[in-house]
Amino acid sequence: QTVSVTDLVQHVADLFEPIADAKGLALEVINPPDITLQGDPDRLAQLLIILVDNACKYTDTGGHVTLEVTPQRGSILLRVADTGTGIDPADVPHVFDRFYRADKARARGDTEGTGLGLAIAKWITEAHRGKIQLSSTPGVGTTVTVQLPV
Ligand code: ATP
Repeated sequence: QTVSVTDLVQHVADLFEPIADAKGLALEVINPPDITLQGDPDRLAQLLIILVDNACKYTDTGGHVTLEVTPQRGSILLRVADTGTGIDPADVPHVFDRFYRADKARARGDTEGTGLGLAIAKWITEAHRGKIQLSSTPGVGTTVTVQLPV
């Protein structure tokens, strides 16, 4: 199925605008027009929802969340970056494992989750023959990059 990434990203940004607003987060969207790829629109929406949901969950009031689409030769990059709590380097290799939650996330009473989100995000990415990467610095923020072939 031909999926408009542009429409998808706009849809997810619209979903999270009130959530970001309520928490006092700036949600910035960089979304060029006319980007399409072959895929499953519902699953790709779920992928973006997981990433933006995490970015909003693990970023405190006053922070920034950026959702950016970059066309490349033969692929597109989806980047979700936040200025949140970040992830301890010891936890980073495990965040895509099922049910894995970093100690900090478990300890934070205000967030709940199953630790399934990123495992599902990885599964959706790989079902589209893509690659997903996470980089993070504690106290600075986290960036997740998804590369999908067009
Ligand atoms: P859910 O299944 O509801 O998404 P979750 O957020 O705990 O729950 P994952 O999305 O799989 O599960 O994330 C795994 C862990 O990675 C989280 O518990 C958290 O410690 C860490 N993490 C994920 N995204 C971020 C982020 N943007 N900033 C900081 N930590 C994050």
